[in-house]
Order: sequence, then structure tokens, then C-alpha cells
Amino acid sequence: MCGFISIFGPAGADAIHDVLNGLLAIQHRGQDAAGVVAFKDRFQAKKGLGLVREVFQDKHLQRLRGPLAVGHVRYPTVGLGEDTDVQPFWLDYPVGTAMAHNGNVTNFHELKRTYFGQRNIHLGSNCDLEVVLYVFADALMRRAADPITVGDVETAVHEVFTRVKGAYSVVGITSQGLYAFRDPYGIKPIIFGRKATPAGAWYAVASESVVLDVAGYEVVRNLRAGEMLWIGEDHVPHFVQVGDRPHRPCIFEFIYFARPDTFLDGTSVYEARMELGRRLGRAFRRTGLSADVVIPVPESARTAAQTMAEELGLPCREGFVKNRYVGRTFIMPNDKARRDSIRAKLNPIRAEFEGKDVIVLDDSIVRGNTSRQMVKIARQMGARKVYLASYSPPLMYPCLYGIDMSTKREFVARGRTSEQIAAELGADSVLYQTIDEMVDAVRTAGNRELEFCKACFEGLYPTGDVTEQMLKDIELDRIAATEG
Ligand code: AMP
Repeated sequence: MCGFISIFGPAGADAIHDVLNGLLAIQHRGQDAAGVVAFKDRFQAKKGLGLVREVFQDKHLQRLRGPLAVGHVRYPTVGLGEDTDVQPFWLDYPVGTAMAHNGNVTNFHELKRTYFGQRNIHLGSNCDLEVVLYVFADALMRRAADPITVGDVETAVHEVFTRVKGAYSVVGITSQGLYAFRDPYGIKPIIFGRKATPAGAWYAVASESVVLDVAGYEVVRNLRAGEMLWIGEDHVPHFVQVGDRPHRPCIFEFIYFARPDTFLDGTSVYEARMELGRRLGRAFRRTGLSADVVIPVPESARTAAQTMAEELGLPCREGFVKNRYVGRTFIMPNDKARRDSIRAKLNPIRAEFEGKDVIVLDDSIVRGNTSRQMVKIARQMGARKVYLASYSPPLMYPCLYGIDMSTKREFVARGRTSEQIAAELGADSVLYQTIDEMVDAVRTAGNRELEFCKACFEGLYPTGDVTEQMLKDIELDRIAATEG
């Protein structure tokens, strides 16, 4: 999972300030690396490992001038993390273009072998964006004349959709304008906004609406599944529907990934989490158990914990204090390292546990490391009963579209009943949201018609091209990366 923003300002303007503001607003989508490529007479880049505020200094801003710029923050995944993979990527020849994406190309290895291998082209990175960039640039290079037309970009996007499988939202710039496209199934989010100034219109395309909010842009609309946008020298946005597949946005964005103050495809993430909490509160009541307090695992479970508690007539309390300066625990190389840093990251407040029956709520349970630690700490703090709750259903299948999940054998819920999961995690019980309640809750918060990609919960992959072999290869890759 990653985040991006691309800006096209009026002639003479510098887009870099809005790009950096935007990147800060989506830092939650990736803390591993950040980069910007801007165009003024030529492409200029600054990329590096680390947080946005660590990578960029004033001296870089002097260099990154011009009205066209694209920026990216990278989410760390096991086995990657090299600086050759930091986005955006750009080419000066055969067409000048810079590009960034969010997602995962499922036929990356196959394309390396076939499309590229047969022409003796060796890719310079391990990043799947490179195949999108080359396929796009190759098609754009073959256009009849300059300037680039909307038809030229459409042909290039069509070529990408034909060859490149998976989920990817893409933004990019050329010397003449800005382009963006959303994968054929619209799995990854991408939103378009504009701001009017006396000097002329500014346009922005970003992963989440919150980016547009903080950078002062008004939301125009989300790109549709398989849709592209080109804004060329006329400064007029041209949309073209290139793909014709059904829209299946990722439901896990609502559960965990997106910021609560974001709207995805017209649905408020905050409202969705509130509704998820209410539904789970009702489900807890149906179990016949009783508790004294609801305690969220910070940060993402906070919103839902409030409504779950309201629904049950219980207080919602901050039982765990998060140290935000400890790095991400999820992608640590092994389980021991993950467990140690979860403890360092979340410290309890004894008074909220002592002598109480507590509901500990998280957004999701993957390997169960966080939950196991939270239960252990709750008991050490004197809790009488510890009821675990997850406002998403059991995660059981790997995400092939860019959310870093476990291999199948790592999912704690796989092959276990809820009693067995509770025993495995040391809890008195574990309660999950059902898939139907989850979908209905997110729909209630916004668009009633929306169908989602929920492959990680039910194993049905909307792109229809995921084979058992692909899943096995991914599993083996992950095992080699985590154990190797
Ligand atoms: P685990 O400890 O392996 O069960 O993971 C569950 C915890 O990781 C929860 O607290 C989630 O908020 C968080 N989480 C879930 N999915 C992801 C992900 N793809 N990347 C990072 N953190 C995640």
C-alpha cells in the first residue's frame, strides 16, 4: 500500500509546496520512503528512504520547481526496501514522463519473463511500477505527432490494461501535462480535485480526499474503475472510460488503511467505522456476555470503539497508550521482533483494567500478535475477563493487490473455530464482524450500491486471474523473505 499526489498548476507556478503538504497528509499510507519528481525544462527528482520530513529539506525545494510534479510515499513490505525502488520513476527518453502508483501488479514476474525478457530488456528495480511505466511509455512513444493528445494517452492506458494485471492506481506527468488512471476494477482509490486562483486553475490527483482537503483543493470526483484523465496544454481535464470491468474498491481501506477523515468513493471512512462499531456492539449483546468497558487498540480502532461502547451502554476508555515513535511492528522480520516492539509501542493504564471485564477492540486480527500481547497485558493489569473483538471478519487469504498481509499459514483464524482462536490468543472469547455486516455497515455510511473487493476475507479475487500457482508462488516468496 502506498500513497501519491500529482499536481498541475498554472504556468509559472511551483507545485512542490502542495505536493509536500499532500504527502504529509498521506504519510500513514507509507513511512518507508518518499519521493518527488517535478518538471520545469527538465525532470528533477529527490527521493530517499524515510519519512517525508526526513527526506526533504529546503535546498531540495529550490531545485524541484515548475507547475507539474508528482510525489509518492512508500509502504514497506517484507523483502523490498531498497532505494532503487523508491518512486516516482521517470524517463527522459523515448518519452519524458514521471510516474507513481499504489497497488500491485499480479503478473509482474511473468511480464519480466515475456514482454521484457523476450526483447532482452532487464528491469532496473524490483518495483512493479517499472512495468507499468515501460508499457505506457512504449505506447506513448508511438504516437503520430506532438503535442500529446487525449487519444494518445488513451491508447497508452489501453495498452497497460491489456498487458498489466492486478490493481494499480497511477498518476504521472509529462512535459506537457498530467495523467492519471485507475485499474480496471477500481480496487485502489484515486480522487481528483481542483482549486481556482487568480493566476488560473490548479489540478490535483491523490490517493485520498484528505490530501485535497489539506492542500486546499475542492474534490471534483473519484476516478471510476478503468477511467483515465489527461490534462494537457489546454489545461482542461479530459476523462475517458477505457476499461469496462465492474467497480470493486478494496473494503480493507475502510477497515484499516485510510484516514478516518477521508472519503473513499463517496463514503466517509469515519462514518463507516462508526457503523462497524455499532454492529459489533449489537453482536456482542447477542452473545449474552457482559462487560464493564470497551478499550480500543490505538489508533484505527478508536472510532469504532466509541460506537460499540455507546451501543452497549458502556464507557469507552484509553486503556493503551501508544508510543508513536516506535516504528511499524507489522513488517518486522520475525515474530519475536514483532512481539517485542508491540510491547514497546503499547503501554497500559492499570486503572482501566483492574478488577474489570474488558472488551479489547481492534480493527483486524492478522497473525494475532497484537491481540495476544493485549490480552496478556490486560491480565497482568488485573482484568477479570478479556473479550477480544475485531470489527472486521477473520482475515484468511493473502491480498494480491498491494496490502501487505501474511501467507496463509500465518493467519491465526485459518482452520480454527472462534473458540480455538480465543484459546490460541489467551482470551475468554473472540468476536468477529460477519462479512455481510461489514459490507452493509460500509454501504450504510455512503453508497448503498457499492460492491467491494473482499478477497482477504473470502478468497474471491475480482480480477479473476489469480491461480492456485500464483498463490503458492507468493506464499513461497514471503516465506523466503521472512525466514531467509
Ligand atoms: P497481528 O498483530 O498480526 O494480528 O496484526 C493485527 C494488527 O496489525 C492490527 O492492530 C491492525 O491494526 C494492524 N494491521 C492490519 N493489517 C495491516 C497491514 N496490512 N499493515 C500494517 N498493519 C496492519
